[in-house]
Amino acid sequence: MEQQGSNSAQVLRTPEFVFVQNAVRAHYSRAEVQPQFVPPAFEQREFGFGFEGKIDFRHKAFRSQRELIDFFVRDAPLYASYSTGHYTLPAGRPMPRKGFMGADLVFDLDRIYSDEHPDTHNPIACARCLSRAKEDAMRFYEEFLLGDFGFSGAEVEINYSGSKGFHFHVRSDSVQQLSSDARKQLCDYAAGFEISGESMLREQAEGRRKVIEGPSPSSRGWPARVYKNLLNALSSASNGEFATLGFTPKFIKRVGASPDYVKKYSSEGNWTFASDEIVPLRAMIGGFVSKARVELDKPVSFDLARLIRIPETIHGDTGFAARKIAPNEFSDFEPLEDAVVLSAEPVAVVPNFTGEVMLKGGTFGLGEGKRREVPTYAAVLLLRKGKASLAQKE
Ligand SMILES: [Zn+2]
Repeated sequence: MEQQGSNSAQVLRTPEFVFVQNAVRAHYSRAEVQPQFVPPAFEQREFGFGFEGKIDFRHKAFRSQRELIDFFVRDAPLYASYSTGHYTLPAGRPMPRKGFMGADLVFDLDRIYSDEHPDTHNPIACARCLSRAKEDAMRFYEEFLLGDFGFSGAEVEINYSGSKGFHFHVRSDSVQQLSSDARKQLCDYAAGFEISGESMLREQAEGRRKVIEGPSPSSRGWPARVYKNLLNALSSASNGEFATLGFTPKFIKRVGASPDYVKKYSSEGNWTFASDEIVPLRAMIGGFVSKARVELDKPVSFDLARLIRIPETIHGDTGFAARKIAPNEFSDFEPLEDAVVLSAEPVAVVPNFTGEVMLKGGTFGLGEGKRREVPTYAAVLLLRKGKASLAQKE
């Protein structure tokens, strides 16, 4: 079943496929682009490529940078992936013959956000979905990767996936030998498994007394995050909000008289003073956790034989590049601008829907069955989404 080398000839070479592949090839032929898509330690990695599917064949390896670049230019794959694993014989098969040396630690955020804005969602390329994805990715980067996990900015490569999500690659020596299970635990940690109102405010029996243990200023990780959020919310809530949440009038009066009331009494992590408020406090914590947690595509992290999109290669679902993002440019990164790298050469297409697409600052209004010229990058997106065909030459 496994094949080696190119099998692009087996793809149904429709005029649309040929057009897209030529646009991709033109991109990979640019001398300034070529060094960008050669991954670090490429000689130790397994590669997989797709023309029809995302990975039509794998177990490919390259011995030199020239060989790798020549392959991209000659075969112009629509999807290009590489192993997070490093091997002594990356082309060896089956997998055990490769000689596993270690693996980069990678995380993939690929949540779907369209349900949050069903009326304004654009199924072709949605700026709102991407902006929500970026928000979550930035939060994961700052709070978990740099925060709780303690990586340095220099250790983490931020990468737009080229489609809907974001990837993070940690290639340091310190992560190479992490077990699959340890990688799974990091994902579960970010997902806030086992973090709840109940686990953050625990009722303990101390002799005949009941004591509530909770987060404090010296907490770390999730408890610290919960503590900060709780204090912020309690110091800014109005009396009406407190009452709606179910706090007692006594508590509302005390917080009203002294906004530092909770901070002062909880400073040792003893929340017994608020034992009558445990239900609303736990509910508030549950609310923070659901906002602060990050859902990751776990198998991407724990499956050590997994292939992942090569940074700076084209994603065949969109024609966008899987851009590497500098940390100081993360907040300004706009996928529908910055990842649009294919040629702007105009080409006539016939859309099969009526709507619009916004790319690179331009809005392209499209009418069903109406021929119109669009830049190549917009044509590739429409063709790959099955939303247009190439117009017949006039
Ligand atoms: Zn959307």
